[in-house]
Amino acid sequence: MKTELGTPVYAPAGVGHLRGTESFPDAARHELANTQLRRNLANATATIRAKREAAVAEVPDWEQLRLAGSAIKAQTMARLPELLVQLEQQVQARGGVVHWARDAAEANSIVIDLVRSTGAEQVVKVKSMATQEIGLNEALADAGIAALETDLAELIVQLGEDTPSHILVPAIHRNRAEIREIFLRAMPGVDPQLTDDPHRLAMAARQFLRRQFLSAQVAVSGANFAVAETGTLAVVESEGNGRMCLTLPETLITVLGIEKLVPTWRDLEVFLQLLPRSSTAERMNPYTSMWTGVHPGDGPQEFHLVLIDNGRTAVLSDEVGRTALHCIRCSACLNVCPVYERTGGHAYGSVYPGPIGAVLSPQLTGTSGHGDPNASLPYASSLCGACFDACPVRINIPELLVHVRAKVVDAERGGAPSGQDLAMKAAGWAMGSPGRFAAAEKAMGVGRVAGHSGRISALPWPGSLWTASRDLPTPPKQTFRQWWAQRNQGEG
Ligand code: SF4
Repeated sequence: MKTELGTPVYAPAGVGHLRGTESFPDAARHELANTQLRRNLANATATIRAKREAAVAEVPDWEQLRLAGSAIKAQTMARLPELLVQLEQQVQARGGVVHWARDAAEANSIVIDLVRSTGAEQVVKVKSMATQEIGLNEALADAGIAALETDLAELIVQLGEDTPSHILVPAIHRNRAEIREIFLRAMPGVDPQLTDDPHRLAMAARQFLRRQFLSAQVAVSGANFAVAETGTLAVVESEGNGRMCLTLPETLITVLGIEKLVPTWRDLEVFLQLLPRSSTAERMNPYTSMWTGVHPGDGPQEFHLVLIDNGRTAVLSDEVGRTALHCIRCSACLNVCPVYERTGGHAYGSVYPGPIGAVLSPQLTGTSGHGDPNASLPYASSLCGACFDACPVRINIPELLVHVRAKVVDAERGGAPSGQDLAMKAAGWAMGSPGRFAAAEKAMGVGRVAGHSGRISALPWPGSLWTASRDLPTPPKQTFRQWWAQRNQGEG
């Protein structure tokens, strides 16, 4: 695929919910062997973590803001159908066109038709997780349309024929020497004397991108928020590339996950405080672009909003799991996660890496049990709870991880009761009456087994399922009941 500059433009190699067929433990093993990657990640996440903590500490009512963000999201999910209809009406009333897409294929075909109708062969893009999720770049490439990422980190990933590894810093796994090498190899018109000085690298990208912005007819964006009350879309960013994409081309196509709604402008106020401090550790993000429909002679004259479901309705139907849809993609949970810090984002094999990816991706796609690579994601956590503490909208990710693990187990056994279920049922029955409990104790010989080392390290099946990975404390020589009976006898 060629851009107008005759530049080969590569779509990122990995898209969709899951890139490979490797489970998380297998993929993590490969990533852990990459010492350069681990060094880059450790440096980057430690720096972002410290900055975020300082930025958050400046806000005395941070906890109240988090509670407000959580409540607004919960209310939005509860009213999602009516709010979506309100958004559609407001966008249409202001000259925009709304399209509904059930899945990735439908969304891609809508965007392709829209681009084709303009006659453009190239689009500029603002970084968008939703378009990565649906594999839009690849679909456009198959249709003969080149999609150029304009966010600096996304551009590095794209020119490097690589895949993003972080929600906010997609090229976090690359250091500046690697970036220089990528630019020299893949960026047209680049100065061959380019050094790895960060300023020089940024200027090279700026020069290249500026030419693309000025010639683009069509832009494709995501959006951080959509206000149902007014039909306004909002993109927050740091580089100004978003502002260029959203204002210069004649046609703007925005792809939005249906969960990105907020009911009113007042609600937006809460998230515009929570997001920048949690993501880039800034008090306010440098660029906040908002647009409502179209305005004659000002900005894009054609605006299309593509609303995608792609599994979200299914997540919404799960009262516990739906809180994963509250995510505002700040990436704070990634930066505090000890698992992410060591493996990086590629090991998750999902567009959404880290703790939020571990609970969102398997829910969006569903899982068929432990053979499914997506099913390994909710186990990619130590359940330490750091992600919950960092999350600006108080998503209880540890609780969700356990919930999604249970769904994986249910999917695996296909409705049939597991050995654990049967054991629990039997234990419940035995413990349901003092007589049955005493009989069970007697039958199991509890109280008569004397331990030597104090631990039992091997039991016959089904106990072996437990002792294969853990020891059991040896039961005491005497049960409580035996002790009680003996004591009372002595007193009598
Ligand atoms: S789950 Fe919370 S912390 Fe993680 S990216 Fe989403 S909003 Fe940010």
